[in-house]
Order: sequence, then structure tokens, then C-alpha cells
Amino acid sequence: MSDEGNFTAKEKKYLEEAAEILKNGGLVAFPTETVYGLGANALDEKAARKIYEAKGRPSDNPLIAHVADFEGLRPLVSRIPENGIKLAKAFWPGPMTLIFPKSDLVPLGTTGGLDTVAVRMPSDPVARELIRLAGVPVAAPSANTSGRPSPTRAEHVFQDMNGRIEMILDGGPVGIGVESTIVDVTEEIPVMLRPGAVTMEMLHEAVGEVRIDP
Ligand code: AMP
Ligand code: MG
Repeated sequence: MSDEGNFTAKEKKYLEEAAEILKNGGLVAFPTETVYGLGANALDEKAARKIYEAKGRPSDNPLIAHVADFEGLRPLVSRIPENGIKLAKAFWPGPMTLIFPKSDLVPLGTTGGLDTVAVRMPSDPVARELIRLAGVPVAAPSANTSGRPSPTRAEHVFQDMNGRIEMILDGGPVGIGVESTIVDVTEEIPVMLRPGAVTMEMLHEAVGEVRIDP
């Protein structure tokens, strides 16, 4: 599948099929710029549960909701702190996950019981088109069973996940292979919860002081 965002008719057909699966509560693996993600409708608790089952991941480990655009963020959160706006503007679309206070729309089954929600806007065109077509935020941890390496190729996803998920969108090898940086913006001073592709230096440049989670 092309990664330029100019999809052929056949690619569009696959994307539409995949979006339909997500809308109906199923699982689809797809490329993001970090690793291949295992996607499900983030607003559908039952669909989120399928992710935990397919991965063998404990269900108190919260999922990141992926959005296609800035409009996708608003309904998921009860408040958008100033630093959240700054970091989103600086690093979205890209490997930057932000923690916001969640809205009632987001089920606790997606957030591992937390009253906050992790949101990211990926830059991979396949990922964004899929999320756009699905019309829902897409929860998407790495598409591997727990304990296995995060997949950077569709073949790896197939080897690990075949039979557990409805579809794999093949976007070729993905670039970074490093996870998104996670920053909690619910506090006055942002807190880096997980290091990743966006470095501390880049964060400082965008928002000044940033704490590191002890
Ligand atoms: P990943 O394994 O890349 O899908 O990232 C999931 C990780 O994001 C979780 O294991 C948490 O460390 C982090 N995360 C997701 N949601 C939250 C949240 N609401 N609060 C804090 N950390 C979160
Ligand atoms: Mg992982």
C-alpha cells in the first residue's frame, strides 16, 4: 500500500473494508510511523477487550486512542490544557502521545480504569486515512502478542497475529521502530511518562519545563 496518501482504487477498497471492520467492533492491524498497531474502536469497550485478548495484555494497561485530525481530539477530553495545545501543535501528526482528562465518551475499558485518556495523531497516511474512514478514534497498541517485539513489517504481524484478528493492512516496512513519547499534560508542568521518538530537548523547546516521571 502506498504511503504517500494517494491511494489506488484497490488500496481504497482495502481501507474501506478495514474501516468497516473497525466500525463493527473488529480488529485491524495497520502501519503507523512508529510500529504496526492493532486497532479497534476506542469508544467500544467490547472492541477494546478484543485487543487485550489478542495480545494477551493485562486489561489494566491503558490503550492510546489514535485520531486523524484535531477535531478528533475534542470529544475525547473534558479539558485541553494550554501545554496540550502547544505540544499537539508542535508534534502532531507524529510520535507524540498526550494524556488528557477524559470525557464521558471514552469508556474505562479503553483507559484501564483511569479517568485520563492517552491520545495521539499518527503521521502515517494509511493510519490517518483508516481512522478518518472509520469515523471513530482507534485504540492501537503494537500489533504483537505480549512479550514479543513490536512489529515493523506486515509479515511480522501475520506471523504473530494470524487467526486472532480480522485484517492486516500492509503499508510496507515502517520507519521509526521506536514508540511514541508519552507526556501527561493534566498537571501544570508537563510530565514525561515514557521516552520515545520525541526527545526531551524537543519537548523543552516546545513547552519549557518538563518533569520526568519518577
Ligand atoms: P503502547 O503500549 O505503545 O500502546 O502504549 C500504552 C502505554 O501508554 C501504556 O502502557 C501506558 O504506559 C501509557 N498510557 C496510556 N494511557 C495512559 C493514561 N491514561 N495515563 C497514563 N499512561 C497511559
Ligand atoms: Mg508494545
